[in-house]
Amino acid sequence: MLENLTKKFSSIIKGIRGEAQITEENSAEIFAEIRYALLEADVALPVVKNFIANIKERSLGKEVIHSLTPGQTIVQIVNQELITLLSKDDDEKPFLQHQNPNEPQTILMAGLQGVGKTTTTGKIGLWISKKRKAKVLLTSCDTYRPAAAEQLKILADSVNIDFYEHKNTKSAPVQIGENALNYAKKYLYDYLLIDTAGRLSLDEAMMSELQDLQTTLEPSETLFVVDSMQGQNALTVAAEFNKSVKLSGVVLTKVDGDSRGGTLLSVQSVTGCPVRFVGNSEKLDGLELFDAKRFADRILGMGDILSLVEKAQESIETEDSEKLALKLKSGKKFNLNDYRKQLSQVNKLGGIASILNYLPSAIRDKAQNLDTLNLEKNVKKQDAIISSMTKKERLAPEIIKAHRKKRIALGSGTTIPEVNQLLNQFSTMQSMLRQGGGIGKNIMGSAPNFKSANTQIRKKNRKQKNRLKKKRKR
Ligand code: GDP
Repeated sequence: MLENLTKKFSSIIKGIRGEAQITEENSAEIFAEIRYALLEADVALPVVKNFIANIKERSLGKEVIHSLTPGQTIVQIVNQELITLLSKDDDEKPFLQHQNPNEPQTILMAGLQGVGKTTTTGKIGLWISKKRKAKVLLTSCDTYRPAAAEQLKILADSVNIDFYEHKNTKSAPVQIGENALNYAKKYLYDYLLIDTAGRLSLDEAMMSELQDLQTTLEPSETLFVVDSMQGQNALTVAAEFNKSVKLSGVVLTKVDGDSRGGTLLSVQSVTGCPVRFVGNSEKLDGLELFDAKRFADRILGMGDILSLVEKAQESIETEDSEKLALKLKSGKKFNLNDYRKQLSQVNKLGGIASILNYLPSAIRDKAQNLDTLNLEKNVKKQDAIISSMTKKERLAPEIIKAHRKKRIALGSGTTIPEVNQLLNQFSTMQSMLRQGGGIGKNIMGSAPNFKSANTQIRKKNRKQKNRLKKKRKR
């Protein structure tokens, strides 16, 4: 799901790298791309405009902090903005927490026909009975589609939840609702879930039926069910429902299908209601509580890259990177002790497999064939090889000739080719640093090297400041 949007964002982020501040110039393209990506994902135009305006306001002029690149900084902002938009919550009233033990809590389901309303009524009934360990009653006020009540009864029976069946087929929906509520009160049910009639498109009769039900039954929740494949149309539908009845929450269905992320952004922004559940299969247990952070991550497809950045910042002492930067600047050579510190970063970050988990899906897919276990073994071997060297050898590896290699291999339980491999990797890195090309590559040539990126960005900032100073003096 959400693959298109995910791919799009991944490619945008690749677009800008290596700058110290977000400016109109270096971000124009990325904002155009984000706008295009959102429209392509069926987010309604007014929502896109608003979204872009918010991100722009928060991004422009922003310093690219710590070891983040401008791309990562914008991802962070887009991510935060998505979470803000998606996680509107009413924390004064705990969701579906039973308040009054003498009164059943009534939940009214609303939405167009075919969006998955009946199925979702069964799913939520099952969820409540399991999670809240409560006595649940379901009923259907859908007199428009004769088979609807039967469908819900079958669903309820299949999971051993009670169903209130109205005998008089000519009863008005409101009458059925009232009877069901009285029944629920009489038999001490904790929750009453009411499925209502939908229509294929917006319809006045449907809305007035819903209004009547809401006024008479005074439900504690009125959940708006929306199909994640509804697309641009979702905005109008949600706006109309929101205008006619007081919605308290949104349930997004069919996220397991080929759906676009846009529907949810549109619906959420127009109703302002919290998203409560996400339906992810046809089965009755295919329901999960909505998690804004996870959904935003999914839309962005950035995996937990931001957590990796944070973790990297925590574990790698900036002092170390400053020291290394100063050392290189003063013309001192990068030696095997420095190389070893780089190796220990991999361990501090929890090993290569753990680093891969944090990376965006696109990179992770490419790295799927990486033999991470072997790479980690290699890191350990290299550490053992360096341990077997003398102080002098670590500081000046060029003195390591054949007889020394033999001794080191023997001492570290490795082979001469393995010692050679380490020395080759070391000298590649040494020459990379000499050329100032440390950004984006580390010892393994895979995971990003935040330490050198950090150093590089600081250097660039310093250079910029110096240039400005000189200009002013002139
Ligand atoms: P209603 O007309 O709104 O009551 O919709 P239904 O509950 O009858 O659902 C319409 C179709 O969508 C049925 O075939 C359901 O099995 C299917 N459906 C509902 N929710 C989901 C979901 O989360 N994922 C998938 N794949 N199908 C769903």
